[in-house]
Amino acid sequence: MSFNHLKGQHELSHALSVLLSEGRLSHAVLLTGPAGSGKTSWGMALAMAVLCNESGSSGACLQCASCRRFQSGNHPDFFLIAPDGRNIKIDQIRSLKKDIYLVGDNKVCLIEKAESMTAEASSSLLKILEEPPAGLHFILLAEHPRLLFDTILSRCQAYTLQPLSMEEIESLLLSVKNLDGDKASLLARISGGLPGYAIELAEDEQFDSRLEEAGSLAFKLVSENQSAYEVLSHAATLSEREDLFPFLELLCLYCRDCLIYNLCKEEKLLFHPEMVQQDNEKQINAQVLEEIIVLINSAIYELSSTNVNRRLLLEKMLILMQRRLKQWPG
Ligand SMILES: [Zn+2]
Repeated sequence: MSFNHLKGQHELSHALSVLLSEGRLSHAVLLTGPAGSGKTSWGMALAMAVLCNESGSSGACLQCASCRRFQSGNHPDFFLIAPDGRNIKIDQIRSLKKDIYLVGDNKVCLIEKAESMTAEASSSLLKILEEPPAGLHFILLAEHPRLLFDTILSRCQAYTLQPLSMEEIESLLLSVKNLDGDKASLLARISGGLPGYAIELAEDEQFDSRLEEAGSLAFKLVSENQSAYEVLSHAATLSEREDLFPFLELLCLYCRDCLIYNLCKEEKLLFHPEMVQQDNEKQINAQVLEEIIVLINSAIYELSSTNVNRRLLLEKMLILMQRRLKQWPG
């Protein structure tokens, strides 16, 4: 695909176009960003543009023999390296050497999850980068670039992918997936500006049922007086969910909708409007909702960054939520 076919990343697109047209693209380009931010799509578009015989300001022409071979997944000068198991191993870098030193056309090697290279693989790559053969370009993709050797980092032209706007994600979803406008808008809100994550959600067959279940739990938690036994039982059920993260994200989104409604009476709630249509005395105040959102977000953070006991953490989150909710007026 050409740069124009990809959404957002206007600065990156401009920078790559200028470097390509002036022949100043480095032997090593590093694209960083969180999972789902579009690193692979941009890496592939850049690789195709480097190899293209007729590339222009928007990258590859998509028509020439090179582009056609690339799109068929069968380009002799394109090499893709991805982790073999947990790591990229030295043999994978060594195996490149027999091809990349052949004199001839431009060659591109795209390395996915470059931070997963072992120290030996990194040293082997560094040796190539120190004296790269003419026409060879590496494109490294990394979520955590700090884990790369400093000596590799210093040889790369590095770019960080930026989150897309809600409108860009919506338009992407509508162009590649058969969704109605409301669902595209909901997924765009949840995606946090990450196009890959938005597509993954659109392809997730469990999404609609998860949405329903998160809505139902949020409704129970905020509108019914839950006994300690019920709260602990919710925590036990939640801790068993394989899709705990996306589930908690939906729970959080639910509470955010409620908060937005409380603060500005914004009617565009996506689900379960009955949560906020109770009489005024029973409406949860904005401060309590803010605290609940913070509780859910810190649980998501702890679960993703530590080896905490899921069930205990969820019990704590739900108990604190109930404690705050019971203090609401009425
Ligand atoms: Zn082409």
